[in-house]
Amino acid sequence: MKRRTFVRSSVAAAVAASLSTRRSMAALYQEAPQAPPDVDAITGAGGEITLKGKDIADLAARMRGRLLLPGDDGYDQARHILNPSFDKRPALIAQPTGTADVRAAVDFARDHDNLLLAVKCGGHSASGKSTCDGGMQIDLSAFRDVRVDPIARTARVTGGSLLGQLDHESMAYDLVAPMGTVSHTGVGGLVTGGGFGRVARRFGLSVDNLTSVDVVTADGQFLRASKDENPDLFWGVRGGGGNFGIVTSFEFDLHPMQRQVVGGRVMFPIAKAREILTFFADYSQKAPDELDIGFLVFYPPGGADGMAGFFLCYSGSESEAERVLAPMSALGTPMADTTQAIDYVALQRSGDTDDPRARGSYLKSGFVSSMPADLISAIVDGLEGHPDRSTGVFMQLSGGAINRVPSDATAFANRDIMGNLLSSVGWKHGDDPGQHIRWIKDYWATLEPFTKGFYSNDLAVDQRTAAIHANWGENYDRLVRVKNEYDPGNLFRLNANVQPTV
Ligand SMILES: Cc1cc2nc3c(=O)[nH]c(=O)nc-3n(C[C@H](O)[C@H](O)[C@H](O)COP(=O)(O)OP(=O)(O)OC[C@H]3O[C@@H](n4cnc5c(N)ncnc54)[C@H](O)[C@@H]3O)c2cc1C
Repeated sequence: MKRRTFVRSSVAAAVAASLSTRRSMAALYQEAPQAPPDVDAITGAGGEITLKGKDIADLAARMRGRLLLPGDDGYDQARHILNPSFDKRPALIAQPTGTADVRAAVDFARDHDNLLLAVKCGGHSASGKSTCDGGMQIDLSAFRDVRVDPIARTARVTGGSLLGQLDHESMAYDLVAPMGTVSHTGVGGLVTGGGFGRVARRFGLSVDNLTSVDVVTADGQFLRASKDENPDLFWGVRGGGGNFGIVTSFEFDLHPMQRQVVGGRVMFPIAKAREILTFFADYSQKAPDELDIGFLVFYPPGGADGMAGFFLCYSGSESEAERVLAPMSALGTPMADTTQAIDYVALQRSGDTDDPRARGSYLKSGFVSSMPADLISAIVDGLEGHPDRSTGVFMQLSGGAINRVPSDATAFANRDIMGNLLSSVGWKHGDDPGQHIRWIKDYWATLEPFTKGFYSNDLAVDQRTAAIHANWGENYDRLVRVKNEYDPGNLFRLNANVQPTV
């Protein structure tokens, strides 16, 4: 029997055995005739270890979900994330179907010299942190469920769910929790890092709407965290990313909101880019909380003409929308305008493929507190089309309810910003990315002086450790204390990492 077939069949046998109930562990092992062979792996600290086949079979037997080794059906799908540039191969992949499986997988990783551990929910990580080479990936895609209580106006969301599931379930009762703008983004990564989106200026970041979380911490414990229970952990999870454990359940407060909003994109020829950004710098600062508006300046690949414009969502009443959006008419007739009364859930899905981050790309980002003329010039003058790449720069607006939360109320520290400025370059998968990445780094170097801090969920792959720590400002010391308590061995290190000091 070929080695690969052997591995597959033996782990599959153990998994199948684990699914059958009321059997002793001994019986389970009898049904798994032989353990899979030993597997080479690496630890979080970079050491090389060998995982014993029997230990892998034990883990498979402890889990209800699947345990995948290279070559297994589903292994390639699980190891890949949205950005195809990250072509990594974990030594093994656990796909929990519930909290018990998450605990089993975390126990395994910790007890094997703190295996390198990647946690994947929606797989949107721009820095490729949700997959890894040689370690263990915990892929939460089989752990997706949303339950809305329309009377209490709350939602419970399991740790692997996508935000489109929550939008779909909550809007069935004209209720909403602020989430991101692309429906296949994972709640797990989005919410632990912050959560900007179309109604965040009105209701706050996603983290501001959390009332409790269930977390599996590095020691395999299952903890509930809220303002009253494990409050430090609750504070840290709201903006500290995946540093403290795996969130198996999020509980949100929901807000009443009508399904129909006004939204779409308004695009002009690139020649108007400077005028558009100058307008945006002023208009966005006077906008009511109900208006979410961002700008986009973009060159498609192939040397086609560039475009500049806005993407917007007004979630107040339709009659007010006209008055609020009226100043935009000063910009003249756009080349394309999709602004319309639209179902919120449909709008939330509308960028699923054409959001600049929804393609293979390299991303740079930073927070800005204003848009002076020099920044506008740097954005417009430096951006250029290219036959082999797309280039774009855009902003996700902050302000409103987001900025009314004190910077130390949650771990998310950057509460005084105008918005998140992002610049991305995309290329055909398979092309050498070197020249494209070099170009965007040079371009970003002209914008970066205008930024202060960055969104940890848009962490660049090569972000320096010191900058990651500084980004949390005065919240960093408390984050280290929480890390020391809940993950002193830094098992959860593939993230914007808070380094423990014990
Ligand atoms: C197309 C696209 C659109 C985006 N739009 C927005 C937006 O509108 N607003 C916004 O704020 N951000 C947005 N982002 C950024 C997004 O918030 C981050 O990429 C986020 O990390 C995605 O979460 P994920 O679960 O999909 O990612 P994954 O790659 O699966 O996970 C990223 C990290 O999150 C952590 N993590 C995931 N699940 C859990 C869990 N259950 N418990 C603990 N930690 C966990 C892990 O550390 C993991 O490495 C967008 C990104 C993309 C690619």
